[in-house]
Amino acid sequence: YIMSDYRGRFAPTPSGPLHFGSLITALASFLDARHAGGAWLVRIEDVDPPRCPPGADAEILRQLEAFGLHWDEAVSYQSTRHAAYQTALDRLAALGLAYPCSCSRKQWREHAIYPGWCRDTLREPGKPVAWRLRSDLGLRPIAWQDRLFGEQAFDPAQLGDVVLKRKDDLWAYQLAVVVDDADQGISDVVRGYDLLDNTPWQRQLQAALDLPTPRYLHLPLIVADNGQKLSKQNLAPALPTDDDAVRPLLHQALVALDQAPPAMLANAPVADQLAAAIAAWDASRLQAQAFRPLPQG
Ligand code: GLU
Repeated sequence: YIMSDYRGRFAPTPSGPLHFGSLITALASFLDARHAGGAWLVRIEDVDPPRCPPGADAEILRQLEAFGLHWDEAVSYQSTRHAAYQTALDRLAALGLAYPCSCSRKQWREHAIYPGWCRDTLREPGKPVAWRLRSDLGLRPIAWQDRLFGEQAFDPAQLGDVVLKRKDDLWAYQLAVVVDDADQGISDVVRGYDLLDNTPWQRQLQAALDLPTPRYLHLPLIVADNGQKLSKQNLAPALPTDDDAVRPLLHQALVALDQAPPAMLANAPVADQLAAAIAAWDASRLQAQAFRPLPQG
């Protein structure tokens, strides 16, 4: 039933169960893909194992299923992708676009961004190194059209040399996400506003690695009463998996996505709500508002 080149994905970090904020992201990327007749993939972004308690990935998948968000293809796990990330890093290093860096944050704390001290010569050989992207070569302003927030422009000189691999040998999100989006043929990234300012690094990396660039739709971020992003830290409740609780919450998520779902479907079976929402999905209804209070009720 996949009828177009659209390929979307939901890419949670399994640091804990999904909450209402993650439902918004999962649901919007799912509806955008299904409305387009495209594929929708799930990728578990477990590059940082100490942050990922065992079983969190399985719980996330159960939550997605309870909300009727069924994915195509096998779920992919970043923890199995070291070889692909290393190949990308080797390629950047061979191009002179990645370099090892022994500096500690403490050493450059008076600067807003890392000043690039190790670009040409490693400052303290023998110490553990991180790998960074060189952002001072072939500098071009980074601009793109976000589907919701419109024209975006960033100055590479203000972005700094982003870390690709950490001193503790863990892969950084920026590199992993770019390699995976390309390898999975992702055409459309739909995710929270909190990642909009990560997009310029990802576009730099796509350009450096000669990869295609997806379209981007950043979504209003649901914030708690204290103005903070919903997260495990501020005790956002985990999404339920029992159908009685799932139905009204799904409706609420559609409201929060400005899709004006029919009130008569507020307690309808998940499959019925989703079928109506896929048919009616209209991303242009979303209000371009960076932060959104948690809906009441
Ligand atoms: N893993 C990231 C997160 O959970 C999302 C990555 C993305 O959508 O690009 O915040």
